[in-house]
Amino acid sequence: MSVRGKIVIAVEEHYADGELTGLLRAPRTALSDKLEDFVSLRLQEMDAAGIDIQVLSHAPPGLQAVSAVVAPDLARRVNDRLAAVVEAHPARFAAFASLPTAAPGAAVRELERAVTVLGFRGAMIHGLTEGCFLDERKFWPILEAAEALDVPIYLHPSDPHPAVFDAYFGSYAVSHPMFARAAWGYTMETGTHAMRLILSGALDAYPKLKLILGHMGEAIPFLISRIDEAFSRGNQFNDFRRYFTEHFYVTTSGFFSDAALLCCLQELGADRIMFAVDWPYVSNRAGSKWIERVSLSEHDREKILNSNARRLLRLEGSRAMTQLAGS
Ligand code: MN
Repeated sequence: MSVRGKIVIAVEEHYADGELTGLLRAPRTALSDKLEDFVSLRLQEMDAAGIDIQVLSHAPPGLQAVSAVVAPDLARRVNDRLAAVVEAHPARFAAFASLPTAAPGAAVRELERAVTVLGFRGAMIHGLTEGCFLDERKFWPILEAAEALDVPIYLHPSDPHPAVFDAYFGSYAVSHPMFARAAWGYTMETGTHAMRLILSGALDAYPKLKLILGHMGEAIPFLISRIDEAFSRGNQFNDFRRYFTEHFYVTTSGFFSDAALLCCLQELGADRIMFAVDWPYVSNRAGSKWIERVSLSEHDREKILNSNARRLLRLEGSRAMTQLAGS
């Protein structure tokens, strides 16, 4: 495996838990078999593309769509089952926790348990919980716990709020379903989530909190100068750039573009970019072929392919890295 002799860690790679998707009545799709598989389809496609380690996370909307009554107990079962998968393949997988955000106190306890007992590397949160973004005060204990545990929170897309969905996408959501999703709606939704966290003051309260955005930063790196200029008018908010570049990491999930990577390199630097595919929605081979040929110094390619993830997700000394080093 590997790309150009470098270990490949892909950090936004999804799976589906049968009990959770059953509860959500998620329709089966062409990707369901891949989302539910860990042994054959998944490892074959990883091997064929040179991907050594997937950091697994549940597919959207995950536990963010589950009520406070059901989510806490379900979260424990979902995370325990994912821990068993990692345990069975310790050289190939690591994991982000699913959190019962509708019950913030339970989400804090589950994050602590997932990190300290199950060895998870952080948590992924899919957009809104009952119509609310994470910047609302009731969720701040989750941010506090992530900071205290020194693990990142991955802000992942999910469907926009129903009112936004109707007003902005309307009939296009039927004629062009991806317009409201990966083509644009997800970017707008998740970029808004990140911006609200910055504007809320949460990053002053939790100055060591680390956040991850997929899809090359959900367009924020491209827009950061304009955002900073606009907020500076009348001193509405200063230092947007500083908050973004000190707290956020971005990944290449589903976005294998030289131009977008160059923008992220120029605005954030190579230390803040991590490789991801967004499997199975996106092809492993497309991702690894791109990162293999894209114009980068080998030093920066190594950072993006593995060393940034090893540092941020504290994979050093994990069974995955130990087994890889010995192989
Ligand atoms: Mn994804």
